[in-house]
Amino acid sequence: MYNNFETKAIHQGNEKNAFGSLTTPIFQTSTFVFDNAEQGGDRFAGRHDGYMYTRLGNPTVRTLEKKLAAMEDGESCVAFSSGMGAISGTLLSFLSSGDHIVADKMLYGCTFSLMAHTFSRFDIEVDFIDCSDINSVIQSIKSNTKVVYFETPANPSMKIVDINKLCIEVHKKKSDCKIVVDNTFATPYITQPLKLGADIVLHSATKYLNGHGDVVAGMAVGKKDVMDQIRSIGLKDITGAVLSPNDAFLILRGLKTLKHRMDAHSYNAQMVAEFLESHEMIENVYYPGLPSNSGYKIAKKQMRKFGGVISFEVKGGFNDAINLINNLHLCTLAVSLGDVETLIQHPGSMTHSAYSKEEIEAAGFSDGLIRLSVGLENYQDIIDDLLHGLSLIRA
Ligand SMILES: *Cc1c(COP(=O)(O)O)cnc(C)c1O
Repeated sequence: MYNNFETKAIHQGNEKNAFGSLTTPIFQTSTFVFDNAEQGGDRFAGRHDGYMYTRLGNPTVRTLEKKLAAMEDGESCVAFSSGMGAISGTLLSFLSSGDHIVADKMLYGCTFSLMAHTFSRFDIEVDFIDCSDINSVIQSIKSNTKVVYFETPANPSMKIVDINKLCIEVHKKKSDCKIVVDNTFATPYITQPLKLGADIVLHSATKYLNGHGDVVAGMAVGKKDVMDQIRSIGLKDITGAVLSPNDAFLILRGLKTLKHRMDAHSYNAQMVAEFLESHEMIENVYYPGLPSNSGYKIAKKQMRKFGGVISFEVKGGFNDAINLINNLHLCTLAVSLGDVETLIQHPGSMTHSAYSKEEIEAAGFSDGLIRLSVGLENYQDIIDDLLHGLSLIRA
C-alpha cells in the first residue's frame, strides 16, 4: 500500500506477470481455462480464487478496480461499461419497490431521467431537493429512505454540497441510509467522499479518470460487502454492464497522470473563470474557485483544487449563448468533459434536455447556461477564443 496519491495511481494494484511487462497486459478473453472440473467447480463455489468468465471478473479490469479503490481510500471497487451502468447497477443492487430516495434537484441529465421517469415504474419514489440545504435533506428522510444521492460539484450548475456535514446529519437521523456521491467532476485527487462519511462513490470514468476522450466507463467504490453485492447483483445479473479489458487498459493509462492533469485543468480553469468574471458581457460565472461563488467556503474545505469545469451565462441569455458557442473554434462544441481538449456545450438543449423548462428552473440553472470543460491547451489561447467569440456577438 502506497501513501501518496500519484504513487498509488501509478503502482497500486499492479501485478507481476509471466513476461515481466511494465504495463498491465490486456487480457482480451471472454473465458478462462480450468485445470480440471473440480477446480472449475471450486471457483464457481468461491472455494478457490481465480477467474472464470470476464463478466464475473478479468485481470486487467481487476487491476483497475484495485487501483481506483486505493485512490478513493475505499475497500473495494466495481468497474462498469459506463457511468450510467455504474449508477443504475449500484442503485438497483439494493433498492426494492416501496423504497424512497432523496436526490438532489441538480443531477446529470440521464441520472435525472432514471430517477424522475424510470424508478416510478418500479414503485421507487424519489424526492428531488436541494442537498446544499441540509435541513431540507433531513426533513425529507422517511422510514423507507434507502439512499441520499447527489453530485458535488453538480453537473452543470457547479453547486457545492457539504459532504461531511450532510453525512453526519443523515446518518444521525437514519444510520442505514446509504449516501451515494457522484464524484465525476472532482475526481479522487480533489475530493474523497468516503473519507468525509459517504457510503458509495460513483464515477463516470469517461471523464477525468480516463481523461483522453476515447472510452466510456463507470466506477463504484465503497465497503467490501456493499461492493460484493453490487458486483453480484447490479453488475453480473441486472445490467451486465461489464467494462471491456481494452477500455480498462486505457483508463489505467489515463490514471497515471490524473494528478498532473487535474492540477493543470484546475489552473487553466481558474484563469478562464477569472477572465469570464471580468468580462462585461458575462452575467454569471459558476466556478467553485471564485471567492464570489456561493460554495467557495465549503469547496475550500473539501476540495484540494477546484477542477476544470466552469458554467456561465452571457448577458444576452439563451440567444447569445447559442451565438457565442457557434462563434468559437478552439473551444470545441461537444458534450462530455474532462478531456485534454476544451469542450463547450449548452446543457439546456444537450446534456440536460431530459429536464423540462420548469425543472431546469427548479434545479437552479438557466436555459442560457453554457458549460465549459477547460482542457489542457495554453489558457491564453482558450481566453483568446472566448474573447473573439464574444466580440462577434455584438458585431
Ligand atoms: C457523464 C456523466 C455521467 C454519465 O456517465 P456515462 O459514462 O456517460 O454513462 C454521470 N454523472 C456525471 C456527473 C456525468 O458527468
